[in-house]
Amino acid sequence: MRNKIETAAEIIKLSKKTTAFTGAGISVESGIPPFRGKNGLWSKYDPIILELDYFKSKPEESWKVIKEIFYDFFGKAKPNTAHNVLAKMEAKGLLNSVITQNIDNLHYKAGSKNVYEFHGNSNNFVCLKCGEKFKLADIVLTDNPPYCEKCGGLLKPDFIFFGEGIPAKAYSASIEAANTSDVFLLIGTTGEVMPASQIPFLAKQNGAKIIEVNTEMSNYTNSITDIFLQGKATEIMKELSFALSL
Ligand code: NAD
Repeated sequence: MRNKIETAAEIIKLSKKTTAFTGAGISVESGIPPFRGKNGLWSKYDPIILELDYFKSKPEESWKVIKEIFYDFFGKAKPNTAHNVLAKMEAKGLLNSVITQNIDNLHYKAGSKNVYEFHGNSNNFVCLKCGEKFKLADIVLTDNPPYCEKCGGLLKPDFIFFGEGIPAKAYSASIEAANTSDVFLLIGTTGEVMPASQIPFLAKQNGAKIIEVNTEMSNYTNSITDIFLQGKATEIMKELSFALSL
């Protein structure tokens, strides 16, 4: 494993443009479970609460669960070593950007600047009637759904619900990164969630080397991964940070 980590570090040092691509696995050691799998959130909650039409028609029911998962629970999570190492890599010029499928705000909390949030961010809200945006800090969360102070419309957390499109800016920035990066560093993602899952394939087609960190094999491991660093994100990223002399 040490050899593989050193090889990965060399590739990153020589790269002109490296992009990280993260999924739920990078936040597992911050205490946030993934959606799928044995201990995943969908084994406890019904994903219907994140369907846009359901949220609009039964906001009270949806909101109760959304608040419990994404605010009472996610809200307390802190970035872990893996988030911190990515932020350090960016500060040292070894990482251009992070494309994340996560909505937990932990890359920003860790200090990353160039973050493309493919599925939005739970720290932002949008009014479904007038489109006004709000920050979490400006809203008082109660057991009832929040409403817009300007027009009275229902406020929706500004992350992607089932049935919604990808935020345009994050989408185009991610495609651009996939078209122009020498290295893609995948951390904690199965590669099962479309269309995000296609980004690493596009990067590979455009010549990027793929370094993958995951506890398990993913859809990428046997198809496009060049170096598979199997293990927990915090442990592997700590070793990578030593190998990069961060
Ligand atoms: P996913 O594709 O994000 O997969 C999770 C992956 O993480 C799996 O491959 C698993 O083997 C790996 N993993 C688990 N623990 C790990 C660890 N300690 N270190 C490294 N890898 C680890 O799948 P999902 O959970 O079904 O998510 C679906 C979508 O919902 C994704 O877009 C995901 O990002 C999003 N989601 C976000 C959050 C969050 O914001 N933290 C939480 C759950 C889901």
